[in-house]
Amino acid sequence: MNPLITLTGITRSYPSGEGRLQVLHGIDLSIAQGEFVAIIGASGSGKSTLMNILGCLDRPSEGSYLLDGREVSELESGDLAALRREFFGFVFQRYHLLSEMTALGNVEVPAVYRGVPAAARREKAAALLGRLGMGERLDHQPGKLSGGQQQRVSIARALVNDARVILADEPTGALDSRSGEEVLTILEELNAEGHTVIIVTHDPKVAARANRVIEIADGRIVSDQAKAEATRAPIPHSVASTGAPGLGRLSEALRMALLAMRAHKLRSFLTMLGIIIGIASVVSVVALGEGSRQQVLKNISGLGTNTLQIFPGQSFGDMRSGRVTTLVLEDGTQLARQTYVASVSPTVSSSQTLRYGATEASAQISGVGDRYFDVAGITLTDGRAFDATDVAGMSQDVVIDENTHQALFPDEDPLGKIFMAGKVPLRVIGVAAAQSRGPGGSTSLTVYAPYSTVQTRYLGSTSVSGLTLRVADDVDMSLAQQAVTDFLTQRHGSKDFFIINNDEIRSTITSTTQTMTILIAAIAVISLLVGGIGVMNIMLVSVTERIGEIGLRMAVGARRSDIRAQFLIEAVLVCLIGGVAGVLTALGFGQLFALVGSSFQPIYSSTSIAAAMLSSCSIGLVFGYLPAVNASRLDPVAALSA
Ligand code: ADP
Ligand code: MG
Repeated sequence: MNPLITLTGITRSYPSGEGRLQVLHGIDLSIAQGEFVAIIGASGSGKSTLMNILGCLDRPSEGSYLLDGREVSELESGDLAALRREFFGFVFQRYHLLSEMTALGNVEVPAVYRGVPAAARREKAAALLGRLGMGERLDHQPGKLSGGQQQRVSIARALVNDARVILADEPTGALDSRSGEEVLTILEELNAEGHTVIIVTHDPKVAARANRVIEIADGRIVSDQAKAEATRAPIPHSVASTGAPGLGRLSEALRMALLAMRAHKLRSFLTMLGIIIGIASVVSVVALGEGSRQQVLKNISGLGTNTLQIFPGQSFGDMRSGRVTTLVLEDGTQLARQTYVASVSPTVSSSQTLRYGATEASAQISGVGDRYFDVAGITLTDGRAFDATDVAGMSQDVVIDENTHQALFPDEDPLGKIFMAGKVPLRVIGVAAAQSRGPGGSTSLTVYAPYSTVQTRYLGSTSVSGLTLRVADDVDMSLAQQAVTDFLTQRHGSKDFFIINNDEIRSTITSTTQTMTILIAAIAVISLLVGGIGVMNIMLVSVTERIGEIGLRMAVGARRSDIRAQFLIEAVLVCLIGGVAGVLTALGFGQLFALVGSSFQPIYSSTSIAAAMLSSCSIGLVFGYLPAVNASRLDPVAALSA
């Protein structure tokens, strides 16, 4: 019968200082199907090194290894992983169970990497555990099991893929003698069923249970004694069942990522925090920018398009002093005759003391045209505004604002009431809604009267505090502005006025808010990058921390791509959950903003939310890649012994 395993001239050396430390010196060995072999030797003699080479966890430095007639010493890592999956079952001294998973989950792991469908592998794992006396403890996590029970779980795991060869490195080393005895009995039974069992031990009593004892010292075989020749039927090796391997392994990677995150809740949350803050600020900033832009546009649209506002003086500073009287009503009348002008509405104002019964209050009398309320975007809560006839007839019908209403007629219907403003009686025909200008709104009182009334009754002059000029429809705004400037400069002999072009304000504000949004969003993107680097950092730490887990997964047959996928998925998941939390935070922030009662609301666009999710995924992919590759490049032996 052809031997199952044939080693010829196997050596293994490790780089050490200048030269190399040779651990195995030309091992020649052959093991037949169905043998129960114990490899015995002092600590440091090279038993584990030999075992790792036998189990295709490690490659020899020199020599040939024929496994079932196939040379495996030169195989690629992927092929070695396949052999570990299909051919070998490992039992370790320290069990190497995954602490986050149940006993059943641990037993299933090698079958997952082999692509066995979930139901089939669960059934098999449960049957094996039941057979090893663990049927009651399928859902226990390793931490809740005794050493002997954990070792049975690890034996079940070694069997789940119908391994032909069981490799056990000091399987009883960490167990009390009774549990150790039970484990040895199980191994004997497995051998009796046809499994080839190779056990490493330093204990001669354990070795005595085997049919053949190979002693090694300083990396050389010094004795090889067989008891009885055991010839057994080869165990039926089930065909590799590859149901939906890719999907199954992906969902396993996803499950592991979730388990790992659950096991380290605080750390996962802190890792996410960078992403949460980054995404929340990007989404909020974009929404606030859009909200403020639309609010500003709405405010300006109240002023109407095609509108120029002309004020006396050089700037608003001059105008407020109230002493600049260079702009007169006649300017408006003359401008209105120009072909490029559709209409002109003057504004004037005067400060007066209001009296109603015993109540007194000082107020600003604002003389405006009949279209002013539309143009300025002021809404009336009660009554009506004055019309063109009122303006022409210098009517004493006025609109008061809410502040004036409260000051003069608290808890009364003000419509039709007549009060004194200075020496002039005025009748209320309408109430204007309170205008919120900044926090708390304004506390000053304003009475809107026809400008003609204010000019004749109070000012006695024809100077105006401003002209609102509507440009004719087909005329270009900047040309019209230039024409108005030229016209007035000629009339006055100097440029003693200034013009505000609403369209200019609109475009200026739009581009300013856009610039601000881009600027703040850029800062937020930087914070996202910082968050991503945080994720990478934690993932690298996590790889180091879980090195034993990675080694175990490789030992039971995980491909490098499986390990890479697991860590990549974890990184993407952390970022994705962070992204969702970030978007929710941003939405919550919007609610808060509404409660505070700001003058505008953030506007969330689905595009920005989708972009946020997409970018958090990409951050996970980009910053998770390095840690994932690091994990997948680990050497299984080094990872296992770490
Ligand atoms: P045993 O299992 O018989 O106790 P090992 O096979 O674990 O012994 O180790 C044999 C020798 O090889 C020891 O001297 C150990 O220090 C050395 N050795 C094992 N692994 C490495 C490694 N990765 N790098 C360097 N030396 C190693
Ligand atoms: Mg050892």
